[in-house]
Amino acid sequence: MQGMMEECRIPGAEGGQDVVFRPGKLICIGRNYAKHAAELGNAVPTSPMIFLKPASALVANGGDVVIPEASSDVHHEVELVCLIGKAGANINRSDALNHVAGFAVGLDMTARDIQLKAKEKGHPWSVAKGFDTFAPLGDFVPSSSITDPQDLTIRLMINDQVRQEGHTGDMIFPVDELIAFASTIFTLLPGDLLYTGTPEGVSAVAPGDRMVAEVEGLPVLEMNVRSTAH
Ligand code: ZN
Repeated sequence: MQGMMEECRIPGAEGGQDVVFRPGKLICIGRNYAKHAAELGNAVPTSPMIFLKPASALVANGGDVVIPEASSDVHHEVELVCLIGKAGANINRSDALNHVAGFAVGLDMTARDIQLKAKEKGHPWSVAKGFDTFAPLGDFVPSSSITDPQDLTIRLMINDQVRQEGHTGDMIFPVDELIAFASTIFTLLPGDLLYTGTPEGVSAVAPGDRMVAEVEGLPVLEMNVRSTAH
């Protein structure tokens, strides 16, 4: 266990106190950008495809992503992440963004080799997605500072080379719809996190790589990749 995140902090307005949340469940969306679904040979979903990651996978900006011994093909997936600030179930889409306290850049690290085997067997993705350090999460901005979460460029660089470059306007299911849909399944609680899916360009990382993840208007997320041995 290294560098696990104990809290998500939303900076207070000028002179105001920060608001601190204990991380809850990590609700993740698969195949939410058509070109990414296509690059992995998956059909575009007709309703949001949801999976969960454990909060123990969270690691803060500047930390390490550790490639587990069980995988030799760990991929980066850069994603816009929403922090839920207000509880709700069966939330109306028109009210959904009022439940968001803040936004951050996240990485949904994925052991692609383990995921492929799980897909073949119809097994869940919990292992492929759930290793320690597989949910890097950057610093938050208050939701009020993002005018439109569907109008942001999103990018991932490795060792200064652009690997993923997209736009949140290309999400198949926008953030408000994802929140409304997820809240028909799970009661959303303050501290829950929503990873909204990744654009195309996913690829493997190697020990020694430096990942720089960016979403327009959000603090940059920088992570180092290493193996379990060090
Ligand atoms: Zn993802």
